[in-house]
Amino acid sequence: MDSSIAMEIFAGLGTVGAVGLAAGGYAYASLWPSSQLFGKALIAPQRAGEIALTFDDGPNPAWTPRLLDVLAEHNVKATFFMLGSRAEQEPELVRRVATEGHLIGNHTWSHPNLARTAARRVREELMRTNDVLQQIMGERVRYFRPPFGARRPVVFRIARELGLTPVLWNAMTSDWSETDAEKIAGALAKKIDGLDKSGWAANVVLHDGGHLVQGTDRGPSVNATGMLMTKYKEALRFVRVDAWSEA
Ligand SMILES: [Zn+2]
Repeated sequence: MDSSIAMEIFAGLGTVGAVGLAAGGYAYASLWPSSQLFGKALIAPQRAGEIALTFDDGPNPAWTPRLLDVLAEHNVKATFFMLGSRAEQEPELVRRVATEGHLIGNHTWSHPNLARTAARRVREELMRTNDVLQQIMGERVRYFRPPFGARRPVVFRIARELGLTPVLWNAMTSDWSETDAEKIAGALAKKIDGLDKSGWAANVVLHDGGHLVQGTDRGPSVNATGMLMTKYKEALRFVRVDAWSEA
């Protein structure tokens, strides 16, 4: 069935422009140089009625546990793109995320901008994070999200060599700097509704951690997550991004 095949968006200029516009994602669209091809990244399938909540920059002992409680209250499984350096410090928390049925992906070791990182270091960042996550979870890591959405062809090639599918997003707001949870939820709901109306699933990025400082306050993001789950409980099916994989 076509509907069971996840669409991988070939990240050429035209497609990215369209996705950026559909999602209102100008902030990250601007990170795409205009004349190169970067390889394939998983964003979201052309399929209304589905949503993936994804959380970057954790695990964060100050807020990830609360987020897990809120997700459990709504019986929603989400996707966490973790920093290897933070995971190494919080193995119990990583295990809890995995045990509660969430998908864990690689978000590099130290959150560099991979568009400006030497290939050898890109490989180290990804391998080291894979190693620590796999050691904690006892399971292979299969997904990777580049910090800042920044990338270049060699980054995707290295990721693929390490068995990682690059994952981007199509719904984002500045939840990392907004203190009003209702504003975060409202901005994302607008994007989610727009995507759904045009027949696309929503790949929503939020933050349970902060890449600069451990223990960052993510109360607004966690509360916005609760609001989104309440709002879309009936209308949308919440999935992990691996529900959209071809494999
Ligand atoms: Zn990040």
